[in-house]
Order: sequence, then structure tokens, then C-alpha cells
Amino acid sequence: MNRVAVIGAGAAGLCALRHLRAKPSIFQPVAFEIGEKVGGTWVYTDRQGKDENGLPIHSSMYRNLKTNLPKEVMAFPDFAFEKNLPSFISHVEVMKYLEKYMHHFNLEPYIKSKTLVERIEPVQNVTKEQPTWQLTYSDVTNQEKKHTEEFDGVIVCSGHYSVPLMPKLPGMNVFQGHQIHSHDYREPGFFKDKKVVCLGAGASGVDIAIDISTQAEQVTLSHNKLWITSPFPGNIKQKPGIKHLSEKSVTFRDGTIEDADIVLYCTGYRFVYPFLTDECNLEIDENERVTPLYKHLVHSQYTNLSFIGLCKIICPFPSFHIQTQFAISVLDGSLKLPSREEMDADADYDFKKRMDEGLAPRHAHLMGPRQWKYTTELARMANVDPIAKSVQELFDMIHETRVKDLIDYKKINYEITGPETFRAYQ
Ligand code: FAD
Repeated sequence: MNRVAVIGAGAAGLCALRHLRAKPSIFQPVAFEIGEKVGGTWVYTDRQGKDENGLPIHSSMYRNLKTNLPKEVMAFPDFAFEKNLPSFISHVEVMKYLEKYMHHFNLEPYIKSKTLVERIEPVQNVTKEQPTWQLTYSDVTNQEKKHTEEFDGVIVCSGHYSVPLMPKLPGMNVFQGHQIHSHDYREPGFFKDKKVVCLGAGASGVDIAIDISTQAEQVTLSHNKLWITSPFPGNIKQKPGIKHLSEKSVTFRDGTIEDADIVLYCTGYRFVYPFLTDECNLEIDENERVTPLYKHLVHSQYTNLSFIGLCKIICPFPSFHIQTQFAISVLDGSLKLPSREEMDADADYDFKKRMDEGLAPRHAHLMGPRQWKYTTELARMANVDPIAKSVQELFDMIHETRVKDLIDYKKINYEITGPETFRAYQ
């Protein structure tokens, strides 16, 4: 019997647990979760900074968030959202969905909540090809007392939207207004009648700028992407990236200047695994490239250590569904991996191809249009069903049309009508 530790019980951790539980004669899983509740990102709190136990707030959820994907695309392939909900739903509905998923697959008995994993280190064993894993954890309400257990495999599902990636801009130290990161954004009231500069126009940056515009006097959306052609509320304007900050204003790369009371950094997050010891041999370089990972997922030296959900711009829950089954097929031996050298060469080739295509090194784990080829390959190797064509096409359609109509795209509903078809309705 293989004891497997799952780190985190957000969507990825629940998914890993669900697929480990599907093989009860092989696996004995335990999911460790800091929070009292499962759901990770989807556990909304008004709090910022630290929680009641002195630990950093994990979730970057904000009060008015509605999903940026329709529920028909978001769902795990083996568990649909409630049919009578609209396609774009509030975070509260996603939370309810994840709790239902947990109950449906009877995962609760295998989750150790209010538990912080502090340390994971490999224990080499001469009789085994792969190490076992010594895991040290504590109860969040009594972090002085440590517990240690040994596992045959570890699946890391600790999320990567928690630790802000802050830019280093000239003048940040002289700016007299507020500077916050989107991780701490909760609701627009704080921005009432203020002049706000939002830096970054990823999914969160744009959505938060629109949310803030309901209260702020003016919102300047500053970014280095292609100009967004969508109509915006009248008090939002676009500017290129920030050149520098002064006491009460921001200068943009085109030389123009705007007064600012608040600068909100929607500049993304860092990969952080504070619980892995150096012996785990996981490197995160200055461009946020994580190595040595085969298929962005399995540690090539320690193949019984894997990381779910590291890729960016993906269809998250369906992607976790495929990745977890891949990692589990490695653990149960049904998927024979290439040699360590071949896996590293594969990862290097993947990175080089990205560079040849003109991507920046910080996009080492960016999927976007690459995701379907990627998940289809994982599914083939793990001998499981790939993500349905209808889901792929609906995701691509939303992704392309969203930027053209950021205000109204969530008013349309969708229905999957067949393995390759969907329909839209108002
Ligand atoms: P998380 O949800 O972050 O869960 C990780 C869990 O690990 C947490 O519960 C945490 O407490 C736990 N953990 C971490 N470290 C430890 C430790 N040391 N010990 C024990 N437990 C630990 N996706 C969509 O599909 N649709 C959307 O509309 C959408 N909107 C989003 C909006 C925002 C603002 C953000 C930030 C993300 C959004 N996403 C969306 C992406 C979302 O992050 C993923 O869908 C998914 O929820 C990520 O799940 P996860 O399990 O990988 O990570």
C-alpha cells in the first residue's frame, strides 16, 4: 500500500485525492490543508495580511468576483456544476461546487484541515529506486508542536496565486499614496472618489479595474500589452507601462503623467514552496522557471514527487483532472517514464521551443493555445480520456472574445450540446 501526501486541498488537491481514492487497494492518501475549509483560492475572506493564527492569508479572492470562464468549461469532467446556474457565477457558487465534489467522492475523511506542512525531505533508501518522504507538519493553532510522518509519494497542490510578484519601479519609495497588490484587493469601497493606477492587464488586472471603476473617480489601466479594444466604463483609460512614480503622480512610458492616490499592482505571483528542503532539488530561477520538471509536472529525479497546477493560462479544473491522473499513473507504475536524462532533455526542448517562438523566459510554464496539445499528450500517456473538444473550443472562443467585450461577455450563457458542440443563449 502506497501512502501518498497531498499538500493543499484547493481544487487541485481535492482532484488528486479523488483520483487516489479511486484506487483504494493501491493508495492510502492524506491531504494536508492549512485552512479550516477546503477550496483554497475560492475561500473568500475580508481579511488581508495574516489570519487568526498568524499565517499569511492564502486566497486572493475579491468580493465581487464572477468567474472568467463559463461553468461548462470550468467543471471537472466527471462532475458538473448545477445546471440551473448561469454560465458565469460568483465565487460563492464555485466554493459550493468544490464542497459538493468533496462530498460526492467522499473525500472528507482523508483531509487533515487546519494543518500546516512545514517541511518535506527525501529519505534515501538503498532497497528502493525512489526515496520516501519525511513530512513535518503542525496544527495551525499549535505550531510549536511538530508531527512527522513518512510517505511513499507526494503530490504538491499548494497553489500559486498567493505570494505577490512585485515590480521594482523607480520612485516606489517616494510615492505618498497607497500601494497594494491585487492579492490584497477585496472590494471597491476603499477606492471611492480616488484616482487609481492599476498596473497589469491580465485577467485579474482588467476585472479589478472594472470593479474599482464603480467607485473611483478615475482608473488608469497601465500595461505593456496590445491596446485593449473592448469598450470600458467612461472613467477607465489605458496607458503604457509605468516609467516611474513621484510623490503624488505616476509617469508612464509614453512620457504622460497622471495624478494618483493609489497604485494597485496586478503583476502576478511567485512560485513558492517553503516546505521543500534543499535536498528536494527543486530550483526556481529568477524568471520563475521551475526545474527539473517533466511535462511541468513530475520531478525528473524524484518521480514520486509531483506538482499540480503550475501552468498558467489554462483551463484549471479539467487540466488538474488530467495532470493528477498522470502523476498517479507514475506512482502506481502503470506509466513508465523515460530516463531522467530524456525527461530533462524534453523539458529543455520545451523551454527552447518557447524561446524560439519569441516568448520571454518568464513564460516557461505559460500554456494558452499550447494547452490542448499538452493535456491531450498527458491523457494519452496516462491512458485516460482527453479534455472534450467542446470544452476546448468553448474555452478558446471565450478567451478570444473576452478582450473584445470585457463588460458584457459574462451576460451570455452556454450549453455543451455534444462531445464537439456547444450553443450560446442569452
Ligand atoms: P489553491 O486554490 O490556491 O489551493 C491551494 C491550497 O493549498 C490552499 O487551500 C492552501 O491553504 C493549501 N496550502 C498551501 N500551502 C500549504 C501548506 N504548507 N500546508 C498545507 N496546506 C497548504 N480559475 C477558473 O477556472 N475560473 C476562474 O474564474 C478563476 N478565477 C480566479 C480568480 C482569482 C482572483 C484567482 C487568484 C484565481 C482564479 N482562477 C480561476 C484560478 C484558480 O486559482 C484555480 O482555478 C484553482 O482554484 C487553483 O487551485 P489550486 O488547488 O491549484 O490552488
